[in-house]
Amino acid sequence: MEEERRPAHAMVFPFPCAGHINPTLRLAGLLHARGVRVTFVNTERNHARLPPRRAREGFRFAAVPDGLSDEDRAAPDSTVRLYLSLRRSCGAPLVALARSLGTVTCVVVSGLVSFALDAADEIGVPAFVLWGTSSCGFLGTLRLRELRQRGYTPLKDESWLTNGYLDTPIDWIAGMPPVRLGDISSFVRTLDPHCFALRVEEGEANSCARARGGVILNTFECLEPDVLAALRDEFPRVYTVGPLAGATQQQHLSLWEEDGECVPWLDAQAPGSVLYVSFGSLAVLSAAQAEELAWGLAAARRPFLWAARPGLVAGAMPAGALAAAAGRCFVAEWCAQERVLGHRAVGGFLTHSGWNSTAESIRAGVPMLCWPGFADQYINCRYACEEWGVGIRLDEALRRDRVAARVEELMGDSDAAREMRRRAAAWKARAEAATAPAGSSHDGLAALVEELAAAAR
Ligand code: UDP
Repeated sequence: MEEERRPAHAMVFPFPCAGHINPTLRLAGLLHARGVRVTFVNTERNHARLPPRRAREGFRFAAVPDGLSDEDRAAPDSTVRLYLSLRRSCGAPLVALARSLGTVTCVVVSGLVSFALDAADEIGVPAFVLWGTSSCGFLGTLRLRELRQRGYTPLKDESWLTNGYLDTPIDWIAGMPPVRLGDISSFVRTLDPHCFALRVEEGEANSCARARGGVILNTFECLEPDVLAALRDEFPRVYTVGPLAGATQQQHLSLWEEDGECVPWLDAQAPGSVLYVSFGSLAVLSAAQAEELAWGLAAARRPFLWAARPGLVAGAMPAGALAAAAGRCFVAEWCAQERVLGHRAVGGFLTHSGWNSTAESIRAGVPMLCWPGFADQYINCRYACEEWGVGIRLDEALRRDRVAARVEELMGDSDAAREMRRRAAAWKARAEAATAPAGSSHDGLAALVEELAAAAR
């Protein structure tokens, strides 16, 4: 007798920040295109920011409250408050939403919302986690516990941040080449034995083992083969579906308003001449750092496009330096980043090494100047520079002369710069091949869709 087939219906819920929403939306688009019904759940606040074109995407959007007060939202630790508030207040609304939809057959969540795994259990459907960082970042996070147990972290005092201790080689993580302690994650840099962020990251990564459906990774097999082999020793179901950047036809997946003027500005620039500068959706620069950066960019004498969202600089934007670079720079609040990286005028990317930005840059074949500062950004930088050969690390303490020198190293015409461009183009080709029919990520997605369908039976 033929099995009764219900269509797979995924209730998809990302942690509500750009780095989680973007890849989750892209994955949702891919699943929808392969016949999976999708209900994409935002927080009410983000739902209200959805542009009308979202309605044309073909899948349903729904919203749950995030439980934050205005005071929470304005607080410097608003992301922590958001994390805690979601845990407190979102489980029951998710369960109620799934029950009201009636046909949900699985839950797909991004990292940082492990409470939704309990909601999936309560609804009685399997959960899948799209762990949105690099796989090397995931593996590093999974090893934080061992690093604590072996006494590598927390640091003994402030001086350990600068006395070379962070260069301690770590050569015992299966699947990783020897790396520096400080490369593994920003969370090893803590002095606090109870560091909240460290415990959260570590706990959230380990909770992926509770996702009955499996772990979905925004990477491709030949980018991180050893890491993936190590992860598969721990997680029976790992689906590699990346890079999700460029995966769907829609160029505009952002929830934020993009500055359209930067594109005509790019059109007027010479091919490969522009440095694109962006630090993602969360990073904050001190006013002094912004000054050094901007004066360095001004001194580098190359055109640059800076995506500087409100709040990026704690203080005023470096107006003097930007005036000094007038005619050569364009400052936008928020860009259509994938489109910018794919523009022929862009020849380099000064990035905070967030994973989405890194993956988008790899997908676009653009070499990077890496200035990591948080979570997995350090290991992404390490892999970009030393494993994949497509990045140059910018010194941690920003100094204008060093910034200018590094920009020249990246954008100039030296043999090393040309070689890096050649490697970036080769990685772009491999990323395209991975997502094309018969490619590893194409197959990974097909296996995931098959699993979602199986969960519906
Ligand atoms: N982004 C964008 N426009 C901007 C800046 C960032 O669309 O002006 C997007 C970028 O393409 C990426 C995301 O925001 O998809 C940032 O994610 P990432 O993981 O790089 O960093 P995070 O924001 O999580 O630190």
